Amino acid sequence: MSRPPPGSDGPRAGRVALGAGRGSRGEFEIRDLAVAYASDSGHTPVVGGVSVRVRPGLITGLAGESGSGKTTAALSAIAYLPAGARRLGGEALLDGQSILDLDRVALRRLWASKISYVAQDAGAALNPARRIGSQLEEILTVNRGLPRAAARLRTAELLEAVRLPDAARARRRYPHELSGGQLQRIAIAMALAPDPRLIIFDEPTTGLDVTTAAEVIAMLGGLIRERGLAAIYISHDLALLAAISDELVVFYAGEVVESGPTRELLRTPRHPYTRALLDALPSTRRALRPRGIPGLPPGRVVSDRCGFASRCSHADARCSREHPALVPLHPTRLVRCVRAGELGVLLSEAAPILEPVRARQGAPILEVDRLVCEYGQGAGRIVAVDDVSLVVREREVVGLVGESGSGKSTIGRAITGLLIPRSGTIRWRGQELPARGRRTPAQYREIQIIFQNPDSSLNPRHTVGHLIGRAVALFRDDVSGSAGADVIAEALREVQLDPTLMSRYPHQLSGGQKQRVAMARAFVARPRLVICDEIISGQDVSVQATILELVRTLQREHETTLLFISHDLAAVRSIAQYVYVLQGGRVQEHAPTEQLFEAPGAEYTRRLLAAVPEPEGSA
Ligand code: SF4
Repeated sequence: MSRPPPGSDGPRAGRVALGAGRGSRGEFEIRDLAVAYASDSGHTPVVGGVSVRVRPGLITGLAGESGSGKTTAALSAIAYLPAGARRLGGEALLDGQSILDLDRVALRRLWASKISYVAQDAGAALNPARRIGSQLEEILTVNRGLPRAAARLRTAELLEAVRLPDAARARRRYPHELSGGQLQRIAIAMALAPDPRLIIFDEPTTGLDVTTAAEVIAMLGGLIRERGLAAIYISHDLALLAAISDELVVFYAGEVVESGPTRELLRTPRHPYTRALLDALPSTRRALRPRGIPGLPPGRVVSDRCGFASRCSHADARCSREHPALVPLHPTRLVRCVRAGELGVLLSEAAPILEPVRARQGAPILEVDRLVCEYGQGAGRIVAVDDVSLVVREREVVGLVGESGSGKSTIGRAITGLLIPRSGTIRWRGQELPARGRRTPAQYREIQIIFQNPDSSLNPRHTVGHLIGRAVALFRDDVSGSAGADVIAEALREVQLDPTLMSRYPHQLSGGQKQRVAMARAFVARPRLVICDEIISGQDVSVQATILELVRTLQREHETTLLFISHDLAAVRSIAQYVYVLQGGRVQEHAPTEQLFEAPGAEYTRRLLAAVPEPEGSA
């Protein structure tokens, strides 16, 4: 869901000072909520028996993979049912008032005055054709009934509360003139404008740079506590929820599988799914290999057995026979697992990285020397890469890490020839690489790239078999026509996909499966260098870990060199042997991975590392 709850039917009288009612806000309670989607077979239950208490002044995190039911549960609990969804039972109370049976008019009034929603895509909540200030003022004049002068004053207060830099100028700007972080602060200011009792944050920092996200999170936490608001924060990222939430509710297959105080729950996880989510997290503080969670969530409530059984490393016969109840371990801690008592606190199964730190070995395979890349012309010219030099050695995994605008992806594009540098040289196996179009067939084959978004890199009109088969036809002289199907099948097996998926189209696959197809297509060419450009970005944490595992295995088995481009420092630590840190198109620091993470030399690297949240229970 990316849309906020609709606004009210009309103006509502009242003047509310910023911070008024501090400490007097009410509680939001979801009781035994059940929701289903209409389907060919009648209905598919997607939320079952969910009860959550959200206390004022605290942030309750809802965790789980995509399809776990966390967003559907939160939106259904404010009567904002996603299209095709129907409430089967349960109730929700705000300030003691039951809200799910209100008529449409009363509901719209409630949404406009007491409940706010902040989506991942802040831009979706803003009108692109109107200035920021006038949009905020409109909420205050129309929804709150404030006179124009008071609305202007309060707009300034709100922008200050969300710590928008240079707020006076920003209010005169249009949305497209602001950065993602600034837009998200404005979306939060808009959510605060009606002085609500409850705010639902739906992955609001996804897509923001790590330092910006850290600032937004710190600001949010302060505002919620200071104003005594009840807040729900939805995210698949346990590290983020560890940093921001007070209470944590872990969802799986539409049900709550574990809940409790965040700190305690993450330090002493009792449900195998919570443990698996923690083990899937890479770490900036420890040399760890994250573990993927095999398989996919069922995407519906499973009522005749444990819905996690097919993915659980602790499953026994009972787990396939009975549906576990959510039982209290003590008054604030609930767990849904038939083996919770005997398993006790679940320890990490993530493996430490034991390889010794070695000096860089192998001959340089790629040498980038004084590279400068620009976009645009004249006054609009932007220098994206500014005098960057780097070396990648054979069979090495080199990380290129930085925030947006650091130039890391531009370097990848220049190496593949998708972009012509303004100056500098790129040498491949000792020879200068010419522009694309003048490269040899061997150079095309030897350097492959996997992009961030498989939705745009995989042609939706072709089947998986065709997409990989085309790479085989282009790059594999050693494969005769009749052997092509076997090679495609083997390429799919290598990325742990069933060869029967060959006949599917990309839209028939999950996000993680699509990225694996993109990986299979790159590795089937038998390249010497694979550039992985943000390949785990936008994926669930469990899928990210699986992709990291796979790409590492492929790199080892085929003795390929990897240039791993990412904004995710923890992921880079888990896979790279050598790391370059970029900022504003320049290299700030480069060093062997352990050295860089244990004793960063550059102030910028230290700032980046300090901004990465990490739960205590992740190792
Ligand atoms: S009930 Fe069984 S399968 Fe489910 S989480 Fe517990 S041990 Fe695993």
